[in-house]
Amino acid sequence: MIAGIDLGTTHSLAGVVEDGFPVLVPNADGGRLTPSAVWYRGGGGVVVGRAAIEAVSAEPGRVAVSVKRLMGRRAAEARGERCGCVLGAGPKGEAGVVVDGRWISPEEVSAEILRSLKGDLERFCGKPVDRAVITVPAYFNDAQRSATKRAGELAGFSVERILSEPTAAALAYGLERLGGKAKVAVYDLGGGTFDISVLELSGGIFEVLATNGDTRLGGDDLDAALAAEWGVSPRAAERIKRSLGDGEMVVEDGREFSRADLERVCGPIIEKTRAHCLRSLADAGLKPEDLNAVVLVGGATRMPLVRKFVAGVFGREPDTSQHPDEAVALGATIQAGVLSGAVGNVTLLDVTPLSLGIETFGGLMNVIIPRNTTIPCKAGEMFTNAVSNQASMRITVLQGEREMARDNWKLGEMDVDFPPAPKGQARVGVQFSIDANGILGVLARDTATGTDRVLEIRSAVELSDEAVEKMLGDALDHAFDDMGERVFTEAKLKADEMLPAVDAALEALGGAVDAATREQVLELSGKVRESLAAKNAAELKKLLAELDKVTEPLAAMLVERAMGGRG
Ligand code: ADP
Ligand code: MG
Repeated sequence: MIAGIDLGTTHSLAGVVEDGFPVLVPNADGGRLTPSAVWYRGGGGVVVGRAAIEAVSAEPGRVAVSVKRLMGRRAAEARGERCGCVLGAGPKGEAGVVVDGRWISPEEVSAEILRSLKGDLERFCGKPVDRAVITVPAYFNDAQRSATKRAGELAGFSVERILSEPTAAALAYGLERLGGKAKVAVYDLGGGTFDISVLELSGGIFEVLATNGDTRLGGDDLDAALAAEWGVSPRAAERIKRSLGDGEMVVEDGREFSRADLERVCGPIIEKTRAHCLRSLADAGLKPEDLNAVVLVGGATRMPLVRKFVAGVFGREPDTSQHPDEAVALGATIQAGVLSGAVGNVTLLDVTPLSLGIETFGGLMNVIIPRNTTIPCKAGEMFTNAVSNQASMRITVLQGEREMARDNWKLGEMDVDFPPAPKGQARVGVQFSIDANGILGVLARDTATGTDRVLEIRSAVELSDEAVEKMLGDALDHAFDDMGERVFTEAKLKADEMLPAVDAALEALGGAVDAATREQVLELSGKVRESLAAKNAAELKKLLAELDKVTEPLAAMLVERAMGGRG
């Protein structure tokens, strides 16, 4: 078993492949992102993560943060870096932190973080995990890479590979499926650093064509600027920044903070990344239209402002299908899984050539085992009934890379019966397993009765190269239309659910809803119906989000009534 680790400037994460699936493991706090902070306690002992961040004000100068900035560097070069402690030079002039007069190398500090992740991994897996793939920025030089490797070794890992972060992200986004000589841009805006990389896929491997960025630009700068604007602490500014999300406004301590203000303050800072993007394209000898995809990495790219900005610079919507702050760890985990598969004497052919899944609501393909998963493997998901009093569910087993069920190959089907239940109440667990002989077993279980139905399919793994290539080619050719149809279908499902609920709420609440709100809700639901008819996916999504927002008070009133009625 090999772990994948994103050793980040502000956050670190670790994952492993389990039953053929990459999973990121939770830390002791239950979160997947562990703050890259190490507290050397006054009374002795070392604490990593959230508790370390919380100790900053109580024990200033004892909590090392952002030591990734010091890795493999000379103290003279690193002067001025903020690391939470006193910065000092080691025996050979290396940069490090000084606590209680003791010089500690950035490798040792990082090793504490890695040791903590190792503990989380082992708790999750229930056995020792002593091999790892660790990611580093594409621009890290030899000294910085070696330092990272040493940190891994100090923590008790044998470091199987040092992987570049944009490559890991590209793996997480599944960009190898683009095939050919696909070119992709990876835009990574983290806590304290900005990196832009242009990669080219060649023979199934990503090569970094160009990388650029600013090691002193990130979400922390946004927090500082917002704190100054609003007269609050950076911690409060950070919290408000996150909670604004797509919303127009948040209220904290009775004060209103608007997204318009946030965007006005953050806009110029985000704008600074433009030159780096253009530079990296020029270095790669590419124009924006030569790119086959643009992906987002780093927590700060969750901001709508950043997404809009990236779309503007590259002239295309960025792919946002993965969690941006988890993508690097996920990719490292996938790489670790590939490596451990190879070690386990599994030949390259022993992977699922195409994705396997089932059809779900609206005729969509729901992938259960993604393409290129090493076999044997096992994975499952829970499904529910789409309509009330439904007494059975059809499980249609599909293979292929297309978004719509109808465009994939149907391998088989079966019906699962369950006692009629209100919508969303039935629970049917569907598990796919592929054994070492390539036989796909599909098991469907009604969790209420524990009744199992089983289907065996022998043709899921052995496919001709031509058939696989044709499916991949078709998926690529139709990628945009397919994605558009999926987005629309998902939005339509939501609209079909929301519109009657909104009508019912207005009816139930009657005069309790003020005229202005009623009119606003009616107007918006009218617009939703129009854009549904016009099949305008992007607009529909936006309108639904607005409708969601304006009907929030109605939902609250209904809840209040229900409670009042009960009391
Ligand atoms: P790193 O790779 O540098 O360790 P991360 O990818 O974890 O960094 O990104 C951390 C940054 O992302 C922080 O500045 C944090 O405030 C920001 N961030 C996380 N979630 C959100 C969000 N929902 N909206 C805006 N910024 C966010
Ligand atoms: Mg990062």
